[in-house]
Amino acid sequence: MVDAVSDRPSNPKRVAHPHVRYTVADSLMRYAEFLGYGDIHTKIDEKTGLKAIVAIHNLKRGPAIGGCRMVTYQTIDKAMEDALRLGYMMSYKAAINNLPHGGAKAVIIKPKVIKDREALFEKFGEFVNELGGRYITAVDSGTSPAEMDIIARRTPYVTCTSKSGADSDPSPLTAIGVRRAIEAAVKFKLGRDSLEGVHIAIQGAGHVGYCLAKEVHALGATITISDINLKSIQRCVDEFGAKVCHPDEIYGIEADVFAPCALGAVLNLNTIKQLKVAIVAGSANNQLSHSHYGALMHERGILYAPDFLINAGGLIHVAVLYDHGDLNKSMEQINNIYHTVYDIYERSAHENRATNEIAEKIARDRLR
Ligand code: NAD
Repeated sequence: MVDAVSDRPSNPKRVAHPHVRYTVADSLMRYAEFLGYGDIHTKIDEKTGLKAIVAIHNLKRGPAIGGCRMVTYQTIDKAMEDALRLGYMMSYKAAINNLPHGGAKAVIIKPKVIKDREALFEKFGEFVNELGGRYITAVDSGTSPAEMDIIARRTPYVTCTSKSGADSDPSPLTAIGVRRAIEAAVKFKLGRDSLEGVHIAIQGAGHVGYCLAKEVHALGATITISDINLKSIQRCVDEFGAKVCHPDEIYGIEADVFAPCALGAVLNLNTIKQLKVAIVAGSANNQLSHSHYGALMHERGILYAPDFLINAGGLIHVAVLYDHGDLNKSMEQINNIYHTVYDIYERSAHENRATNEIAEKIARDRLR
């Protein structure tokens, strides 16, 4: 599976320590197995410099869909790990939002020098085509509709081409999904029908954080924001009258909602203890540093909106575009996140179980 660890029996050290020789491949294979993978592909093409991985996580609900990212990786195994982690997440996002797709991710290891970008993406298109429609590719970090147009010369299993009307930045759509989850939580937990006067503490004023601030400000919410980038903060102060706090203080802000929109693993024992909010709902992937912290928030009476459910606006749009739908259709489905997550809030209260456990179980059952 992992090309970096080719067998060289002439090397005595390798023969003497076979367990060392296979360490990287073995742990990645175990990781893949643990995540439930069965279908992982690599392509190396010397002529174009293409080194790509397609990790297809699940096909039970339909062809697997997920973006193609082209970023720099120090090693092939780092790229593989990224593909595995992200493809798995796509399956869960697709399943919980009832998309007729499994999840997958493609990773192209960004070459130091790209001699011929068109040749590289055409080769990638051939690679996707060889998979016979089991994987549908789309934009992600480092790719745009222009690259999808090149890929489309070689395969029909691509979306987000310039003809489809796709944008290379899904953040505004992601933010709408998060805003809908916040509205549902505010209704469920606080009994309020609107965000007027609701105080939202946003961690991260980047692509999604900024768009979320814009969304909730338009509906009358007040905002406290933190970021390590002063320029990003200033934009939110100028445009939305946001209050600012130090990055370390965001967890202890007295507000209605905490919206993590910067980093993963920010919800842990230390930060949950500090929270003075009724609701946690944000865009960041893998917010819980361990899934049992969902239960801890539940015990503390904090309503947690499962991240993989509410940050799927971009994936929903990609799936709609592949199905020849348009932005209106996507908006309809992204708005529906309100109802999906509201049902989970209700079940959580009824069954006295953490929201993330319920959402993960629903997704897992749909992927079986
Ligand atoms: P981004 O890089 O544009 O924004 C992240 C922001 O967080 C940056 O402004 C950065 O300066 C800030 N930041 C970094 N460390 C911080 C800290 N300690 N405290 C406060 N701020 C800090 O990324 P993004 O596209 O806005 O995505 C945000 C999160 O949402 C990521 O976890 C991403 O994986 C997830 N997500 C994004 C999308 C999308 O459509 N962009 C979709 C799904 C999930």
